[in-house]
Amino acid sequence: MPLGFTLAALDLVFPAFCSICEGTLGAGRRDPLCGRCWGAITRLAAPWCHVCGASSPTAVTFDGPHRVEHGREGAAPTTGGVGPPSPGRSSESCDSGEWVTQPVVGAAPSRPCSTCTTDPPQYDYARSAAVYEGALREALHAFKFSGKRALARPLGDLAIEQCVASLLEGIEAVIAVPLARERERERGFNQAALLAQRIAKRLGVPTRPRWLARVRATKPQSDLPAAERRVNVRGAFRASRAVAGRHVLVVDDVLTTGATLGECARALRGGGARCVGVLTVARVLHAAV
Ligand SMILES: [Zn+2]
Ligand SMILES: [Zn+2]
Repeated sequence: MPLGFTLAALDLVFPAFCSICEGTLGAGRRDPLCGRCWGAITRLAAPWCHVCGASSPTAVTFDGPHRVEHGREGAAPTTGGVGPPSPGRSSESCDSGEWVTQPVVGAAPSRPCSTCTTDPPQYDYARSAAVYEGALREALHAFKFSGKRALARPLGDLAIEQCVASLLEGIEAVIAVPLARERERERGFNQAALLAQRIAKRLGVPTRPRWLARVRATKPQSDLPAAERRVNVRGAFRASRAVAGRHVLVVDDVLTTGATLGECARALRGGGARCVGVLTVARVLHAAV
């Protein structure tokens, strides 16, 4: 029996509804997300800073991806909303004297953005699939706080499909950001671990949950201003000696200021990791928190 027919028959008996809008899944569905919610996610795409992954938001329609108009909903070309334009774009002064940026089609970024130059991150590279807003924000909330674990599949797939081409080669293992034990007990699962499993499967490499441990409790980062986040997570993680000489990919749901992921990378480097990449589903733009 053809798969499409089976799904249609199942939908008649057990109608499937979107985890976000509760509408029918419809065309372009990525169960348990409907086609409309999936298509409404604002993707991040090249050109990016090859270190931090700062990029321009794009929108995807059923006709394929297109670049979001500059300035739409305050979308900025650089992640974090700070610093001058990232490399890989041309910068020019418009008639009003304001700096504007234009993508350089086909040009690969050759040097890091100004933020990475003045304050290099601990990781070698970071990539995020989409902007933390709208349907994706709701999906991540439902995933984390309403226990909708089935969302790990489309959200993990989003990270891979959007970013796989720009990950460095030779990834040997995927590691989830460890959740505080107390929080994992409350929630019943670590959302980063579920994403890591999906991403590792798509990459064809193992997950290594024992390679990074949380060794002390920290305050929730969301309660703290950006300046205090690094201090809050300092020394919170410890890497296994098994990471020595390895290229590992650290996975989390959202990159906000990068403090937690940076500290994970610092621990992994301390353990001798050869290369540390970071991959998140979402990224907060204008991280003025
Ligand atoms: Zn929906
Ligand atoms: Zn950068």
